Amino acid sequence: MEHVISALSGMGVDNALITLTGAECPILDGSASPYVQGIMEAGLDVQPAPRRYIKIMRQVLVRNNEASAALEPYNGRMLDLEIDFDSRVIGRQRMIFDWTPRKYCEDVSRARTFGFVRDAKILRQAGYALGSSLDNSITVHEDRILNPGGLRYEDEFVRHKLLDAIGDLALCGLPIYGRFRSYKGGHALNALVLHGLFASEANYEIVTAEELPLAFDALDDVPEGLEVRPYLRSVG
Ligand SMILES: [Zn+2]
Repeated sequence: MEHVISALSGMGVDNALITLTGAECPILDGSASPYVQGIMEAGLDVQPAPRRYIKIMRQVLVRNNEASAALEPYNGRMLDLEIDFDSRVIGRQRMIFDWTPRKYCEDVSRARTFGFVRDAKILRQAGYALGSSLDNSITVHEDRILNPGGLRYEDEFVRHKLLDAIGDLALCGLPIYGRFRSYKGGHALNALVLHGLFASEANYEIVTAEELPLAFDALDDVPEGLEVRPYLRSVG
């Protein structure tokens, strides 16, 4: 489900009703792109209430061996994510992402999930990842990518980790105003840093967009073709 939540959060949607008819969200092509395309087709309705944010007031840092995740005060919504895999096709990749819906759509949403053939065997024996295929994940075997079409971005791996982190962080209930940093992280550390955030009320403040520097506007920079319908007060 993190890909659906990532698409919503990445595109600036903070109020939506989702109906599921199965046990999990469809994996589709392994990225958030099909969900983003759906949002592009539907457009956005601006609502009368001001947008609220969780503003980070002091650093929250969590670690697991050499992996770490942090939330820090920052004027904007930034993610700085680094991965380091012992694989020649992935290796060390870093992405610094200053969020806007347009940049999410163009630079993040198309990045697909990925996995290693050696892990797929173990996962399948345990009953997981039964639907994974070359149509919905980048598959790495030793130092090769098995997908015939290759990669969508040269550094698609770190971009997908960023896509996941945007979905995970949205689970805190409001968009985060601040900087997220992650080194060799993943879903577990992302959840842990949110637990750390809520462990003390001194770590954050709930604010409205008007209270942020420059009256931060989440829909300042949207993809071309996305209709943003203003809120019109009904008359009479
Ligand atoms: Zn993912």
